[in-house]
Amino acid sequence: MGVTPIKRRYLIAIIVLIILCISVSSLYDLFWGRRSDPYRSDEDLTLYEIDLTFNPYSKRIDCMQQVKYTNKEEANLWALYFHVYPNAFKHAEKSVFPKEEMDRAYPNGFSPGFIELNKVLLEGAPVAYTFEGYSHDILMIPLEEPLKPGDRLEVFLEYSVVMPNSPGRFGYFDNTYNLGNWYPILCVYDERGWNLEPYHSLGDPFYSDIANYYVRITAPFEFVIAATGEETRVIEGDEEKIWEFKGHKVRDFAWVASQKFQRSSAVVGDTTIYSYYYTHDRGKKALEFAASALEIFNDLFGAYPYKNLSIVQTDFFIGGMEYPRLVMIDGSLYDGDQDDWLELVTVHEVAHQWWYGLVGNDEVHDSWLDEGLTEYSTILYYGQRYGREEEEYKYQTYINKGKFQLFRIYRDSEDTDETIHRPLYEFKDWLEYDSLVYGKGAIMFHELRQEMGDEIFFEVLREYFESNKFQNAKPEDLYRACQKVTGKPWDDFFRQWLYDDYEEKAG
Ligand SMILES: [Zn+2]
Repeated sequence: MGVTPIKRRYLIAIIVLIILCISVSSLYDLFWGRRSDPYRSDEDLTLYEIDLTFNPYSKRIDCMQQVKYTNKEEANLWALYFHVYPNAFKHAEKSVFPKEEMDRAYPNGFSPGFIELNKVLLEGAPVAYTFEGYSHDILMIPLEEPLKPGDRLEVFLEYSVVMPNSPGRFGYFDNTYNLGNWYPILCVYDERGWNLEPYHSLGDPFYSDIANYYVRITAPFEFVIAATGEETRVIEGDEEKIWEFKGHKVRDFAWVASQKFQRSSAVVGDTTIYSYYYTHDRGKKALEFAASALEIFNDLFGAYPYKNLSIVQTDFFIGGMEYPRLVMIDGSLYDGDQDDWLELVTVHEVAHQWWYGLVGNDEVHDSWLDEGLTEYSTILYYGQRYGREEEEYKYQTYINKGKFQLFRIYRDSEDTDETIHRPLYEFKDWLEYDSLVYGKGAIMFHELRQEMGDEIFFEVLREYFESNKFQNAKPEDLYRACQKVTGKPWDDFFRQWLYDDYEEKAG
């Protein structure tokens, strides 16, 4: 059928209208820089939008947070639960640090951190809520009607974060403001129901789901912000700057602020690595270690899918800490004569980008799953970069003798339980935790590799990564990867390593 002149006029009008609509929406996209983003409308993933003002001089952060959550479980949910980790820093007598660490955690004396919650709205209406847990670090929002599978809910939170004077994951000190585990984050709902673990003093007591983040930080002009995700825009005002970050498919959002930061970068594959530092030239050394690690792990485990990764020198007294797309490194390791340690810690935290960041796990109950594998991945780095001899040397001195055998000698007089697989709160102290989860855990992966041979072992790691990335893995997922690649079960191998008395129990 043809088109008559009148119809043609209509047609032209419609086409013009369509072009106009597209232009208007493109302008809108351009202005907001994010509206056309496919993840924004991703119904499956939780969306966090946080708009905050960082007040370094009063040590407060004023936040407005919107959370869009879809019930992906098979059960009706009668409440939503958030971890409010800053509240665990409120009282000295309930400290998140073991007693022997208090002096290093608070060099200027104890200083409290917490969240002041001002407003909670559910679908735009005020709602009652309670704080639960030992340190009031769980926020419970009851639902009048159950949230059915597939249903979506919007929660709005208005709060202020008060930072402690402490060089840890969460706190400020001489050079940096460290914002790890600083905002209300949804607890994980799994086969156990809601996971409401408190902030344990050993290990990294965290467990979270992959989500999408948009975070807008208003900070005094002189501050530089390093954060999870990519910097989409920085708007400069007279006295302040607004930093916008987009973090897609990540399980947490961390940031560090400093007036002293310089930044260097390197490109590896599709990823730009940034090194933020306040100690000259050592920041470039950290960048080199991280770039080399990223290249090696891309090859060994599977490609890192994010556009950027930040390595951040921080006031920090416990080595390093991993967050998605951002790692905090103890600033004193940049002092010059500690390159060996700077390399070890940087590479370890980069390996966590795969084991914790991409393949997540319950770090309270299954800490070995990410720590043991990350520790062994660090050893693999030395082999790939410097050769087999150096790898063997590092494995023997650092892992086998350094962590595990020393521990055995030290604890020889006691009837020590060498079980690796236990919850954080069942380890006596850092020595026991470090020696078993990192030390014996890495030895277990080394033995697995000896039994399988290099080719199969690396195939297992790639399989484990590929089938579990952007999810939370259980130990069984690792056993499954072993079985899939080798065609035989490995459960017994793991259990013998993971449990001290497994053989006796198994008879
Ligand atoms: Zn680690």
